[in-house]
Amino acid sequence: MSAEVPAATPAKSDFIRDLIAADLAAGRNDGWVVTRFPPEPNGYLHIGHAKSICLNFGIAQENVPKSRCHLRFDDTNPAKEDTEYVDSIMEDVRWLGFDWGDNLFYASDYFEKLYQFAEQLITKGLAYVCQLTPEQMREYRGTLTEPGKPSPWRDRSVEENLDLFRRMRAGEFSDGDRILRAKIDMASPNINMRDPALYRILRAHHHRTGDAWCIYPMYDYAHPLSDALESITHSLCTLEFEHHRPLYEWLINNVDGLPGRPYQREFARLNLTHTVMSKRKLLQLVKQSLVNGWDDPRMPTISGMRRRGYTPAAIRDFCKTIGVTKFQSLNDFALLEHSVREDLNANALRAYGVLKPIKVVIENYPEGQVEHLEAPNSPDAAKGTRQVPLSREIYIEEDDFMETPVAGFFRLYPGGEVRLKFAFCIICKEVIKDSDGRIVELRCTYDDATRHGKKPEGRTKPKGIIHWVSARHAIDAEVRLYERLFTEEQPDAGDADFLECMNPESLTVTTAKLEPSLANALPGSHYQFERVGYFFADPKDSKPGAPVFNRTVGLKDSFAKQQAKA
Ligand code: ATP
Ligand code: MG
Repeated sequence: MSAEVPAATPAKSDFIRDLIAADLAAGRNDGWVVTRFPPEPNGYLHIGHAKSICLNFGIAQENVPKSRCHLRFDDTNPAKEDTEYVDSIMEDVRWLGFDWGDNLFYASDYFEKLYQFAEQLITKGLAYVCQLTPEQMREYRGTLTEPGKPSPWRDRSVEENLDLFRRMRAGEFSDGDRILRAKIDMASPNINMRDPALYRILRAHHHRTGDAWCIYPMYDYAHPLSDALESITHSLCTLEFEHHRPLYEWLINNVDGLPGRPYQREFARLNLTHTVMSKRKLLQLVKQSLVNGWDDPRMPTISGMRRRGYTPAAIRDFCKTIGVTKFQSLNDFALLEHSVREDLNANALRAYGVLKPIKVVIENYPEGQVEHLEAPNSPDAAKGTRQVPLSREIYIEEDDFMETPVAGFFRLYPGGEVRLKFAFCIICKEVIKDSDGRIVELRCTYDDATRHGKKPEGRTKPKGIIHWVSARHAIDAEVRLYERLFTEEQPDAGDADFLECMNPESLTVTTAKLEPSLANALPGSHYQFERVGYFFADPKDSKPGAPVFNRTVGLKDSFAKQQAKA
């Protein structure tokens, strides 16, 4: 469950791994496989990024020793970027269990080289300085059905272009007054090839280069050249970049002096039900305080999932399960929860917690008596046992009692008998209510002959087994229960604002009664509260003596059920 280095068990093969295998078989790149994960540091990573991280780092792990995966920050847009994001991204990739070793790079480290490449393209007559206004640019660009038309500045001489580009760098023009464009084909059916912008003027402080630059390369220009500078062999990106591939290749083919010749391939991005994944929208949720920060456990961010108690192994397993294809699809959130449950079921310690307590007085149990029962910490016997105190007054779960039981209800009801897990059976003798008719207490009796799972002669064994905590010994703890953040399966699919389908019940804070051993739960530790769900001692707010628990996931596995039905 910790961030152990994942074993390089090969993922199922997929079209990208097949392509790489074919390259290796053909002896390309001297047998090297070099990939990269290239986030822009303008937000926190989310579960979609985890798919890309598992793919890129996973492929490198599967091809040792002649392989590596770089972490490269594509930091070409200083207006939106920040070191807070850089730091969080590094933390999240490491937490997921991946290691870039010495291969940490920043596109901003290449600014001088990228600038020189641009001069090279100008010198070759392949780039020009244009001064159309943004509106004119749109008009000249044409549409999907109509070709564009050439900018009046398209045929400037090489000398004039060089001079203007140098003056752009020197700060002689104001922001947006000039751009450098590639000179490709204004009639191309692919709009990305209609003289795309390569450089813009932008006076913005950069988190690494400070105020050294007032021109910045466009993403589509910086990305392929950064890949080539790092000798990336396989540049894997999401499908929306498919139409950018010709520009990627044009740059690789037209710039001289590149150490590598990467090629780009595209795969379908991850989409999850009841989730938005656009960084802009996630930022909006944070900025408008609709959630409690980037690491709010309801967020689809890696940091949110970590805080909720999802484990790196579970997220990696989920990514392996969904695989990599070229088809857009929508994955069920329940599938991710299924992976989380599988991991926690194997690894989380067991404990008793009652979320909605109702008091039970065991009338024939001696007042003042306390006994300690031995309970296993896990189905795995190696994890040992602990002592759980029991006394005359206990709490059980409200839902484990029904005054008028429906058919098939095998837990506690008036006159009915139920087993208290690891203890003995009790029978409900009386229901005490307050003046409003609310149940405040159940009076029960116990039968000493039913200890250790025994059934006295001639009696039927109760079918129900419920959990409990000793009232005198229980601790009160804040427990945060999470539901889906959005009620719609696809919050941003329609025309409506995605905020309109935020789930008003996505967070419920309650005070639970927990067994006393949980008082000292270490922040960041996982538990299964038996019969209730998986809980995680909040790494920020939980303190020894005053634990706070996040519900990671319930016990019911709707995905496994769906599978069984299918
Ligand atoms: P934007 O570019 O709009 O800020 P982005 O989600 O593309 O957002 P990047 O930082 O550019 O963010 O993403 C880094 C890498 O993660 C890219 O290679 C991108 O293709 C990949 N990625 C982003 N979202 C997903 C997703 N939902 N599924 C799979 N890969 C993704
Ligand atoms: Mg992007």
